[in-house]
Amino acid sequence: MNSQKILLTYTVILSVLTATATATATATSDAYPSPYATDATACNPSATDDLVPVRREVYDVGRIFDISHRYNPNMPSWESEDGLGQFLWLPKSMKNGSLANNSEMKLPTHTGTHVDAPGHVYDHYFDAGFDVDTLDLEVLNVLKFKHMGFRPGHLLLAIAIFPLATSSSDVAYPSGYGDDFGTCGKDVDLVPLRREVYDNGRIFDITHKLNPETPVGDSNEGIGQFLSLSLSMKNGSLYNFSLMTLLVHSGTHVDAPGHVFDHYFDAGFDIDSLDLEVLNGPALLVDVPRDKNITGGCINSLILSAEVMKSLNIPKGVRRVLFRTLNTDRRLMWKKEFDTSYVGFMKDGAQWLVDNTDIKLVGIDYLSVAAFDDLLPSHHVFLKDREIILVEGLKLDDIYSGIYTVHCLPLRLLGAEGSPIRCILIK
Ligand SMILES: [Zn+2]
Ligand SMILES: [Zn+2]
Repeated sequence: MNSQKILLTYTVILSVLTATATATATATSDAYPSPYATDATACNPSATDDLVPVRREVYDVGRIFDISHRYNPNMPSWESEDGLGQFLWLPKSMKNGSLANNSEMKLPTHTGTHVDAPGHVYDHYFDAGFDVDTLDLEVLNVLKFKHMGFRPGHLLLAIAIFPLATSSSDVAYPSGYGDDFGTCGKDVDLVPLRREVYDNGRIFDITHKLNPETPVGDSNEGIGQFLSLSLSMKNGSLYNFSLMTLLVHSGTHVDAPGHVFDHYFDAGFDIDSLDLEVLNGPALLVDVPRDKNITGGCINSLILSAEVMKSLNIPKGVRRVLFRTLNTDRRLMWKKEFDTSYVGFMKDGAQWLVDNTDIKLVGIDYLSVAAFDDLLPSHHVFLKDREIILVEGLKLDDIYSGIYTVHCLPLRLLGAEGSPIRCILIK
């Protein structure tokens, strides 16, 4: 892939992207978005040694090696002399009065450590839907060597690339993966297999696919078109190349402390500072009794209270718990409309876990661990000490409760207070 034509095409496209990026950044505010950690050492007099995030490449006393590159503006980007450039924006900033920080990322999908799907270089595979969501997790996870480091796909987030509804550049393109299938008499061999379970029932994908109807907080429309085809083979490019634009708290994702604490945001406690050892290891999947999480008073508010937490009898020593609730029964993550009546933690439920258990990873089956009525207080309780990691929007359907090994890997987004995350369970 190094012909002159490609070089030229890329140069043009990247120039366009860079120009767009610059325009967007300028449009918001002079001061914000401020990248994480710019204030931490030199400029911020209130920064202390306690507030310097540790960035690691090796975790769990030399057992886990992170072999993904961290996304940062200076990393190389295909055919760009200036590198990736700004890839994060802060449309909602606590400095501008928002209750939490909420970033949006814009990334060419082939940036940094990434994976290619067959549709990258074969347009008939692209049309038939052979996207990254169809890749075999068993192949990506080298189970023959399961005692060694373990890698679910890095950048690729179970992205199901759905038909892209609108296109500013061309009526026909960008066309979504799979949208031609069935209308043109395609070969049955060209029907991609989409699986939730891999390796003969040993690996469960507990990540929701990203598609335009994936729900996101405060929206009735879902995430909308999050992929655009910046280079299309139908327009003469030698390969297909997508750009992803996504609010980082969309679908199955993880929160960093900077999401709800602005001083942590400024000090750099971003996604890249999360402990991979906490995100990977033995985990308990529990069913929260559906009849117990109702307390009087709050209409429409099924909650995870201290009383409910106590009733679960989670043993000491358990460090990772995934809570399956009524949210799963109601299939809330399959509905594009954000539903505020979801089950989440009340402050006292969160506090009870902090005080009485060893849990460091809390997983939940809707977009927020915190009940809508206690949105900030519950997040504050969990994230205050920066020891607990919150994974939200998990897909826990059709899996027996019990003990598994969980593997959750966020993107190494330098400066982001949230990230899409790929999580799997292994029996
Ligand atoms: Zn979140
Ligand atoms: Zn959250």
